[in-house]
Amino acid sequence: MSEAPILKDTVRSNGREALQKNIQAAMALSEAIRSTLGPKGLDKLLIDDEGRTLVTNDGVTVLETAKVEHPVAKMMINASSNQDRIAKDGTTSTVILAGEMLQNAWQLILQGIHPSTIARGYRKSEQHILECLPEILMDSNDEIRKSVVKTSLAGKGHNSMQEIIADVSLDAVRMVVENDNSVDVSKIKLISQTGGRVEDSRVFRGVMLPKKRISSEMKKVISDGKILLVDGGLERKNVTTDLKLNVASIGVLESFRQEERNLLFDQVNKMVEQGVTVLACRESIDDDVKNYLTEVGIQAFRRVSRSDLNMLSRVCNARLVNSIQSCSKTDIGDCISSKNITIDGKEFWIIEGDGKAATVVAKGSTVDIVGEVERCFDDSLGVSIQLVEDGLVVCGGGASYVALARRLRRYAETIPGREQLAIEAYADAIEVIVRVLAENAGIDPISTLLDVVAEQTNASSDQIGINLTTGKPENMADLGVLEPQGIIKQALIGATEVAISILRIDDVLWAKQEMEMPDLPEGEM
Ligand code: ADP
Ligand code: MG
Repeated sequence: MSEAPILKDTVRSNGREALQKNIQAAMALSEAIRSTLGPKGLDKLLIDDEGRTLVTNDGVTVLETAKVEHPVAKMMINASSNQDRIAKDGTTSTVILAGEMLQNAWQLILQGIHPSTIARGYRKSEQHILECLPEILMDSNDEIRKSVVKTSLAGKGHNSMQEIIADVSLDAVRMVVENDNSVDVSKIKLISQTGGRVEDSRVFRGVMLPKKRISSEMKKVISDGKILLVDGGLERKNVTTDLKLNVASIGVLESFRQEERNLLFDQVNKMVEQGVTVLACRESIDDDVKNYLTEVGIQAFRRVSRSDLNMLSRVCNARLVNSIQSCSKTDIGDCISSKNITIDGKEFWIIEGDGKAATVVAKGSTVDIVGEVERCFDDSLGVSIQLVEDGLVVCGGGASYVALARRLRRYAETIPGREQLAIEAYADAIEVIVRVLAENAGIDPISTLLDVVAEQTNASSDQIGINLTTGKPENMADLGVLEPQGIIKQALIGATEVAISILRIDDVLWAKQEMEMPDLPEGEM
């Protein structure tokens, strides 16, 4: 039977050709971000199609900003984004690991080994590594945790910036941790402010929003308040534009307006009845009621985003209401305090309730710097959360990958047949991290790797990695180069997953794309 009618307008490549193209695409992507890995990694300058620029050292940011067409490259980017979502760090490592696994697989394919044999060997390697991981884990205390967070910031900014970001992130996480050590990410808010130095970044207890109360006559501070959150506004109803008012006598229009105003005042009276002292609306609050709200002692804020209202609702145990008229006592929440404060000339609103919450204010002198500081906080908060939830750590600087590769080689000896070669290829692949770290520091990658392996064996220590300043193998725990176990674990799982799925593809059917013509109105052609 002919396949022509079904596969019309489709470009097809299959078998080894498809695999080779796919592996090339994956390799190209991992080559592109290789130079950013580690503390000595360089930055990338990204320019989007509108000419906006971004300088970053963050693997996932580079990949997500790049316009990539190849579906296999997209799979690699997804693996990196996944890593970012689950472990918050190790995004560059994931892509480099996957690229190396595929490159080594290709060498085996050239020797005549079938991709599915390689896939099976890789799967076995992953399982064995996960079994061995507990052997290299270490417990952590506060000091170690700080080192771990600082390691996650390697290559991003200077030492004092890493210091402050690590301290602030760990403090923020401690503010919201529950008794069972669990941490809800959504309880930490991250806002940024231009002006000042990175070292001025701070964490505040409670929810902090860059907002000012609607009138400066209103009380600045309310303690033990009752808060109402409105998923709407305190404003006149929007009258449809084609409404006709038949004004028959003088004063009708005025009384119409008065009636509208009365409706607003009624809503304020309703709040007073319920004991509300703080009001936050998603939409606007009419100027007409400003004075009245001030008079009755309500502190009011308008245009608060839905996500902020949701956060407030959890912190103050309040329910979002659609209409003020129908609100009841159970909708109203409690706040320990609601304050307006000024930091460096900018107004902020801080609310503390019974529910835990923390707000991190990231600072930096320019928009670009604040952006990068914010991305650093994003990573370090993720790492801090992992540390507080599960305090187990491993050595960085490539030490753990080498320790696992050594175990894997011993395991390979026990596996008969061609899978043994695949397991050895996998062991070689995960050592790539040491090689790239060395390469980026201008140190010879091959002899560095050999030195680290020899030193681990001689000292029977899993903690020997590469000291990038001296170029010598050294104990990473002594140097404070440590990482949460989750990052390494997830990077290995993610990289193996994407490498295996790429190895399994032996047919690529690519629909021919039609050139799209923009729809121009008639007469303009
Ligand atoms: P990723 O996106 O994969 O997290 P990074 O650029 O953050 O990439 O680099 C992380 C790697 O750098 C980890 O393998 C970590 O162990 C290593 N690293 C960080 N600091 C040091 C250091 N001082 N010495 C050696 N290796 C380090
Ligand atoms: Mg990192």
